[in-house]
Amino acid sequence: MDCLFCKIISGKIPSNKVYEDDKILAFHDISPMAPVHVVIIPKEHICCADKLNEENSQVVAHIFSKIPEIAKLLNLENGYRIVNNCKEDGGQTVLHLHFHLLGGKKLNTQLA
Ligand code: AMP
Ligand code: ZN
Repeated sequence: MDCLFCKIISGKIPSNKVYEDDKILAFHDISPMAPVHVVIIPKEHICCADKLNEENSQVVAHIFSKIPEIAKLLNLENGYRIVNNCKEDGGQTVLHLHFHLLGGKKLNTQLA
């Protein structure tokens, strides 16, 4: 499958890993929008939030259960923002479900 994040999972494309287990991977974003900008992805290819359902959504709970640990690794004790862009109008450019973890400064509050 021609998916950039699947290639990062398989190691065909290198990444700067922060956290990995059997279900998920977190790595530094190649063009950071904040002092700390990490992308968290499921290892299973799910194209976007709009394709989540009862069968495949447990991995989202798993991602969120690990976010405190990942945030601690990144010294984000002062807080952070989690963002998901979904499909074209949401600004999604890589069609493999991912959550942006942003922090390292007081982020602006503009959401849209
Ligand atoms: P989105 O626009 O929500 O689909 O986010 C995709 C993110 O992936 C963007 O923030 C990109 O900077 C990031 N990205 C693209 N290619 C890579 C890469 N090879 N390694 C790390 N992050 C990447
Ligand atoms: Zn993929």
